[in-house]
Amino acid sequence: MRIRRATKIVATLGPASSDPQLLERMIAMGVNVVRLNFSHGRAEDHVQRAAMVREAAQRAGREVAIMADLQGPKIRVGRFANGRVMLQPGQGFVLDAERTEAGDEAGVGLDYKELPRDVKPGDVLLLNDGLIELTVDAVRGEQVCTTVRIGGELSNNKGINKQGGGLTAPALTAKDMEDIKTAMGFQADYVAVSFPKNATDMEMARQLCNVAAAPYRHKPGLIAKMERAEAVPLLEEILRVSDGIMVARGDLAVEVGNAAVPALQKKMIRMARDMDKVVITATQMMESMITNPVPTRAEVSDVANAVLDGTDAVMLSAETAAGKYPLETVQEMAKICAAAEAAEDPEQDGNPRAQTLGRIDQSIAMGALFTAHHLGAKAIVAMTESGSTALWMSRHRIHIPIYALTPKVATQRRMALYRNVRPLLMDTSCDRDTALEQAESHLKARGIVQQGDLYVITCGEPMGQPGGTNMLKICRAR
Ligand code: PGA
Ligand code: MN
Repeated sequence: MRIRRATKIVATLGPASSDPQLLERMIAMGVNVVRLNFSHGRAEDHVQRAAMVREAAQRAGREVAIMADLQGPKIRVGRFANGRVMLQPGQGFVLDAERTEAGDEAGVGLDYKELPRDVKPGDVLLLNDGLIELTVDAVRGEQVCTTVRIGGELSNNKGINKQGGGLTAPALTAKDMEDIKTAMGFQADYVAVSFPKNATDMEMARQLCNVAAAPYRHKPGLIAKMERAEAVPLLEEILRVSDGIMVARGDLAVEVGNAAVPALQKKMIRMARDMDKVVITATQMMESMITNPVPTRAEVSDVANAVLDGTDAVMLSAETAAGKYPLETVQEMAKICAAAEAAEDPEQDGNPRAQTLGRIDQSIAMGALFTAHHLGAKAIVAMTESGSTALWMSRHRIHIPIYALTPKVATQRRMALYRNVRPLLMDTSCDRDTALEQAESHLKARGIVQQGDLYVITCGEPMGQPGGTNMLKICRAR
């Protein structure tokens, strides 16, 4: 039933997937990471959902990571008297930060009060995911006077983006800070920060997470959502202080224009991998499956190309949160990933000798890849405390599965996002020889190796120290 594949699947939880039995089947079918979207629902709802995810994962016999996705700044229009208006091209429309009465055809209030200070005449504002376009004619006090260029229906609380970026809203709101506490309460494995402008926003998020997680002796992975135009030139410094990024194509496309996104996706994936970080490709990947039981050809190509670009994971948003076919979507996506991986050429990976390795553990990880490749090993086994060895190995294209054995459940869950890494929990508190024997039984029990097959193992001597990997062993299964 489950298709063997290296690329991971992130699924957003929502009304369409909040049934425990369905969720269990989705996990069994291939979901590796569950995204809790903090833009919707109350704190209690997320606490409950997190518990449901942990239970469903246990029943399915798979460890999944939970990613808490913070709402970020609400750059939105206010509400309308009739819930919505129809905007016609050429008409005037006023966005008014002071307006308290409900909106109408002539204008609307703003959730985001700073807008008049962030725009000037000539700027282009995009509403409702870019479907509506306004140009700014003038700013008069708290009023932003615009002309509608592309019209359409505008309803309550739709988002506002500025073409080219430049809205000053800070990435972390008071609500996000509360949500971080909630998420650390259930030890979310990853926290995704929405709309970071620069590395400082991520460092701030890191501090807040560390403080909130300290009582639980937990450290979440931090994902920067790349969705602001001004963050794009700062990709490298953002990556340096984050554990990974999300190519957040929804908002990114609105800010930089649709046409720029495919090239940016490739660049972001390449740079993330080069810097030993993880990367998720997100938004509209299987969009038509919200209402249809099969994807379009273009969606199949999109998912396959993200896999070929080297993404760790592909993400489902409304498809699993609010769609009619959450289970079918996961199944289709898994099939597309597996087929694309089979077509991938591992030789196109850069020359590992070009890398400068100053660390013993990192050299062992690369040595394992090299050896496994040349000897035709069936599997690579990394015994890891922190997961770093598995992460380094997974930054290279190799068609040999990496089994990461760890005694720490938090490490196991975190590795659920790493491409080509199959995280397993094992007791490595015993002596090394017993641990090595256990590793071989794991591989045999799963049918990964048979008698006579080669596999390679990395571990640390003494065992149980993060960053302590210093041994590489080549084994023939008995
Ligand atoms: P969102 O982020 O779904 O939270 O908006 C992803 C994106 O913008 O693509
Ligand atoms: Mn977004």
